[in-house]
Amino acid sequence: MHQVLKIKEIRVENYRTKTFIFGRPVSSQPGQFVMAWLPGIGEKPLSIAADFPFALTVVAVGPFSEALHRLQIGDRLWVRGPLGHGFRVAGQRLLLAGGGYGVAPLFFLARKAIAQGCTVELCAGARTAADILLAADFERAGAVVHIATEDGSLGHQGLVTAITENVINENRPDALYACGPVKMLEALEQQCQQYNLPHQLSWEAHMRCGLGICGACEVHSHRIPGWLACQDGPVSDSS
Ligand SMILES: Cc1cc2nc3c(=O)[nH]c(=O)nc-3n(C[C@H](O)[C@H](O)[C@H](O)COP(=O)(O)OP(=O)(O)OC[C@H]3O[C@@H](n4cnc5c(N)ncnc54)[C@H](O)[C@@H]3O)c2cc1C
Repeated sequence: MHQVLKIKEIRVENYRTKTFIFGRPVSSQPGQFVMAWLPGIGEKPLSIAADFPFALTVVAVGPFSEALHRLQIGDRLWVRGPLGHGFRVAGQRLLLAGGGYGVAPLFFLARKAIAQGCTVELCAGARTAADILLAADFERAGAVVHIATEDGSLGHQGLVTAITENVINENRPDALYACGPVKMLEALEQQCQQYNLPHQLSWEAHMRCGLGICGACEVHSHRIPGWLACQDGPVSDSS
């Protein structure tokens, strides 16, 4: 069943990313997602970036996301959800690792964890400085931010796994939480196993029904055959 939400505010986060803030809350957990529908265009999963008020952060990369970017204040979006299993706050010292839009659901998690008294460090990875998202918002919320860019235009030059490894060694976090491209998640999963660090990872997969019926979103890199991102995830929990 879809609910219709009206856009109340649009924030430009970077050259290809916007946050759409809606006129009402949708009760949800960080890491959960909605199936967002634009009539005549299609329906895609989007992670919930905030619950109160409800917000979605979208990177314009193709037909659906570019159509979303053309929406204006007052326009409507149809959503089903919240769907899936989100992140669970476990431990006191949390290390968050994000790439691309994945930083947005992690910001939702960071605000919740900080409100509960946790300390939060974010390791954000991107191709260039222009692709970094929400870093100042994390700092304003009280998180410590580390940045890695592939071209070295900001922070450490290289992949996000280099800076997570430093934080793991120096600050001994209780758990790692990540959202981003599958290759990044696979590398982080290996790193966590090496350091015996509990981890919760939000997996991206091609989704159709969002309800565990069609099977389109099986995560093949996951060790459990038949593990569906929409129903079993999108967050996998090592503990
Ligand atoms: C659980 C889940 C949560 C998601 N949450 C979000 C979210 O909060 N915000 C968001 O922007 N997207 C999110 N996505 C991705 C989203 O569902 C769409 O895939 C995305 O909007 C692209 O759709 P499109 O039709 O515009 O482009 P497509 O035609 O599907 O893709 C165009 C090209 O861009 C690549 N691509 C797809 N997504 C990205 C990306 N994020 N960054 C770089 N390249 C990409 C594709 O591989 C393809 O080559 C999520 C996906 C899943 C499974």
